[in-house]
Amino acid sequence: MRKHHFIGNAWCEASSGETLPIIDPSNGAEVGQIARGTAQDVDAAVAAARRAVGETFDGPWGVLSASERGRLLYRLAAAVQDRIEEFALLEAQDTGKSIKTARTDAIFLARYLEFYAGACDKLHGDTIPFQTGFTVMTIREPHGVTGHIIPWNYPIQIFGRTVGAALATGNACVVKPAEDASQSVLRLAELAAEVGFPAGVINVVTGYGHEAGACLTAHQGIDHISFTGSTATGRLIAQAAAERHCPVTLELGGKSPQIVFEDANLDEALPVIVTAIVQNAGQTCSAGSRLLVQRSIYEPVLQALAERFRALKAGPPHLGLDMGPLVNRKQYEQVKRILAKAEADGLQVMARGALHPEAASAGYYQEALLYRDVPHDNSLAQQEVFGPVLAAMPFESEEEAIALANGTDYGLVAGIWTQDGGRQMRVARKVRSGQVFINNYGAGGGVELPFGGMKSSGYGREKGFEGMLGFTVLKTIAIRHG
Ligand code: NDP
Repeated sequence: MRKHHFIGNAWCEASSGETLPIIDPSNGAEVGQIARGTAQDVDAAVAAARRAVGETFDGPWGVLSASERGRLLYRLAAAVQDRIEEFALLEAQDTGKSIKTARTDAIFLARYLEFYAGACDKLHGDTIPFQTGFTVMTIREPHGVTGHIIPWNYPIQIFGRTVGAALATGNACVVKPAEDASQSVLRLAELAAEVGFPAGVINVVTGYGHEAGACLTAHQGIDHISFTGSTATGRLIAQAAAERHCPVTLELGGKSPQIVFEDANLDEALPVIVTAIVQNAGQTCSAGSRLLVQRSIYEPVLQALAERFRALKAGPPHLGLDMGPLVNRKQYEQVKRILAKAEADGLQVMARGALHPEAASAGYYQEALLYRDVPHDNSLAQQEVFGPVLAAMPFESEEEAIALANGTDYGLVAGIWTQDGGRQMRVARKVRSGQVFINNYGAGGGVELPFGGMKSSGYGREKGFEGMLGFTVLKTIAIRHG
């Protein structure tokens, strides 16, 4: 367990000397400590990053060519690839996720780094036809020092897609991982140093979000903020960044619909619908948490899903079951509050999964739940639960399906299940969400596919080539040569 910040390729104690406990969510026991970062630590990390990139991109990182950056990223990707089990174990222990999910995350981390390694020297500007006697070009430059606020649900994947893209475009990074999930991010920064990244390119300050995170967001030396987390904290971050006109990318929550039409291939749809809500115990921004089913097939679809839900098991991460515990007491209590409200509203649990006998009573376990006939305006159909809870409701027509799909504050992802090609495109075009999947959900992770929200799900795009653009500033240079 690493209990220091990682700044300028060195382990540093918290300047306050204080630490925070690491709690194992599978049994509630304290298993270590992390440094409690404060403004002084954030100052040190930002200064180290600035030295790496240089005031005018003349630092040891700033002077590297795109292909040299790419080579370093490839080395990091390969080093991660050689250590999938190490990262999976760290991630499973820290967050409580099932070791199966953690392994997938580690594989995706390697793939993100590999993708951005290859993309480094493929990003370029344009020349623009202009008046005779001029040549005009655009070039893409890094912001400089980028701040990354990383949540606890997918720390290494989110590191891969935000820090990977920021490094690929030539930024130096200061990362504040969630207090509940700092270990894998600290190890990654250490590994980057081991494979040859110059000092200060990746710095990690741990601690509380409202302390270290807020200092990072407000810091004058940060040129761009990338945030993944709740809509409420996203709003705070955007406000703090607006004070100094700092660009922000916000990847917030969702209440994403899975829309099942009567001609859907149910053999394909049903397993995917289940996975899309129980993966990572439902603690996924893009979870398919609302199920809209055409009335004519509503009963058989729900009966078949109920059977699948009853077979789901939650237990300690090392067992590799469908789910581990929720990440912490706060998240556990939030889910229980939402479920108590659902019960008070008279909503019907149609099926529930089970807890494995080894699930300690002190752990934060929540079994999978399938609710039927959830009224569209009930909070269970509107509010992000961030737990393994699926809210099902029927619809009659394509128009109604679209209205229901669009009828929340969110707009992150939508799944459409139908064999009708015309309907696939009509619905895909009318649904207000950043990603639409037809006859699949998530496209197996889609490292290459731009990802981000509309409405309260945030703005800016991560992943794929598009994800790099946000980490650059476009400069126009006009040459008058006669
Ligand atoms: P937060 O949005 O509060 O936390 C996300 C990240 O932001 C963490 O790293 C956190 O650090 C940090 N943070 C918190 N407050 C500040 C601040 N004032 N300034 C800068 N950084 C800050 O989410 P929670 O962990 O409290 O979870 C609450 C809900 O948010 C969940 O139930 C879920 O609905 C949603 N969520 C969505 C995620 C997504 O993927 N879109 C991811 C996580 C949560 P720390 O943890 O140390 O406080």
